[in-house]
Amino acid sequence: MRKYLISLLILVVAGSFAEPARDSSCLDSVIALKSYGGAPNRDLDAWKRDIAEYSRRHYGPAEWKITPTAIVLHYTASADFPMNLLVSESFLGEAPGLASHFVVQQKGKKILMYQLLPLDVMSRATFGANFCSISIEIVAVNEEDLLSRPVVLDAVSRLVSELMVKYSIPAERVFGHEEIDEMLAADPRGMFFDNTIQGKFVPRKIDPGKRAMEYVRGRIALVKPI
Ligand SMILES: [Zn+2]
Repeated sequence: MRKYLISLLILVVAGSFAEPARDSSCLDSVIALKSYGGAPNRDLDAWKRDIAEYSRRHYGPAEWKITPTAIVLHYTASADFPMNLLVSESFLGEAPGLASHFVVQQKGKKILMYQLLPLDVMSRATFGANFCSISIEIVAVNEEDLLSRPVVLDAVSRLVSELMVKYSIPAERVFGHEEIDEMLAADPRGMFFDNTIQGKFVPRKIDPGKRAMEYVRGRIALVKPI
């Protein structure tokens, strides 16, 4: 009987460790991506070298390091993990290809959050804002798809909230990709900029959509970055 009770106790304790607390931190449960679908994550040294060159051409300083002061949300326009974030060698004829800081993906009932790049390393996901922003890609075909799964947007909102606190980023500095394009169109040398823009900038992006941003903003409105 005593042996049985001890076994039971061990089971209960083990169970309580196996089940993460419901309010456990998103950042603690982020998966540092090693590889996906047989493709390895970016080689960090090569990425830093190439993105520093990208930075020189687009922003001025040849610098891979960033201090995040903004967060930009995207959807992938795909039903599954966007492999181009791992394997693309270039985009628009220019190295290093595309890569975001995070990819958030729903798999069945689970929400998986992958981290591809350290948060002080420049990503290439948001033309005009890579020099200062953390980029989060959400796996979704389009805005309708995204809005049909509020559980994903809730998880993204929690991740954004934690990043806001960690980096003292106010809600006004959380943007959708589409909004960055609109700001570049209004002023290509403003808060966000790119030195390669000649003449007028024509917005191209529609992700993650106005309603998706409205949803996230409703969730993060009360976050108080210190
Ligand atoms: Zn985007």
